[in-house]
Amino acid sequence: MIAVSLQEVAIVLDPFSVRMVLGVVTLTLIVLSWVSSRRLRSPSTDWWRAALCLFFAGNSAFLLNGSSFLAWANPPGKALVVAGAFSVWAGARTLRGRKVRAWQLAPAPLITCLVSVMDDAESSLWSGGLVYLGMTAAALGMAAAELWFAKSAQFRVTKFLALAAALTSLYYLGRAITFVLEGPDGSSFRTYFGYAPAALMHIVLLVSLTYTLNALSNCQLITKLKERAERDHLTGLLNRGAFLGLAAKELAGPASRQGGALILADLDYFKAINDEHGHAAGDAALCAFAEACTASVRSTDLVGRYGGEEFILFLPGATQQRAEAIASEISRRLSSMAGPDGLPFPTVSYGVTSTGTGTPDLAFMINVADAALYTAKGQGRNRVVGADSVDPLPTFLGRP
Ligand code: GH3
Ligand code: MG
Ligand code: MG
Repeated sequence: MIAVSLQEVAIVLDPFSVRMVLGVVTLTLIVLSWVSSRRLRSPSTDWWRAALCLFFAGNSAFLLNGSSFLAWANPPGKALVVAGAFSVWAGARTLRGRKVRAWQLAPAPLITCLVSVMDDAESSLWSGGLVYLGMTAAALGMAAAELWFAKSAQFRVTKFLALAAALTSLYYLGRAITFVLEGPDGSSFRTYFGYAPAALMHIVLLVSLTYTLNALSNCQLITKLKERAERDHLTGLLNRGAFLGLAAKELAGPASRQGGALILADLDYFKAINDEHGHAAGDAALCAFAEACTASVRSTDLVGRYGGEEFILFLPGATQQRAEAIASEISRRLSSMAGPDGLPFPTVSYGVTSTGTGTPDLAFMINVADAALYTAKGQGRNRVVGADSVDPLPTFLGRP
């Protein structure tokens, strides 16, 4: 039976070879992330790519450890690895919407480099070792905390990243403590925390972190695309398809018990605004109306652009009277807003219905509200007409 102790493994793995492997793996990850950068670009991945480059440069400097270039290659090498660890922290911070400027990362690597130069950089691989290990542990620990509290749709991915960063931070803390207790030549330090085992640990972490960060970027991309696919480009409101999907879901869920109201709105004589004042003035009126709508409803209400100058609102839990009052409030807000060149915005006609007046079926409610809106237009425009005030109900089904 062959029994190999960790100590023997550490001896078999000579630091130079392991560092070469680490360099090749890091370079591969850099190339892969560069290839996918056009599709997967986000602030966090930019920082992560910077970290990969810094780790690669630091590791390359360490390849000169056994040579006569030790004195000038090793201190910057340590500084580069510390800068890489702080870039991981900066990337984690951006996931929480917090910005970090590049210069804010400068002090820690500079201090690491200075301490290393001043401490015996001529002959010792481990000059300024405690500051180097401590700084790296601190940066990764801070990254772990940021990742743990990051609010992401990819909950499991950020938690995994947080654990990976915390583990590396703990490993570096273990390195720092053993370094203080035994020095770099102690047997535990050489077995568990020397250059070779640390490089192995880096390989595993860099690969898993790159993979999970790519998953995160994919998720951010999907969220952005989904947002774009669901929003009307001009007004920022829900587009017709997204509105219908969400309103149907509401009606099948909470609104099936608590009820709700639906409002259809149509800007009056809107074509005349386009014809007389130009398309830009028309667009400004559409945006102003969208703004008046969102300012008048709760964040849980749904507001969508139904098409052209027609808008649709679904207010879960609202009664017929409440919805009619909200429609009047929207018009009041719009009339108090000033258009481009002081131009007044158009008036608006509304058709309002609620689940109380019939079965909670979306298509049926839209038909009823549409018929009420048609009545509002017929009565002279600039008014709110409730479906319950128009008789008889069946004639509402479709415009004649
Ligand atoms: P009514 O009071 O009967 O509703 O008359 P109206 O002029 O508002 O209705 P009509 O259906 O005749 O005209 C709607 C106009 O809305 C025609 C179309 O060019 C314009 N329109 C549709 N979408 C946009 C848009 O995104 N921007 C601008 N500026 N105009 C738009
Ligand atoms: Mg109109
Ligand atoms: Mg219209």
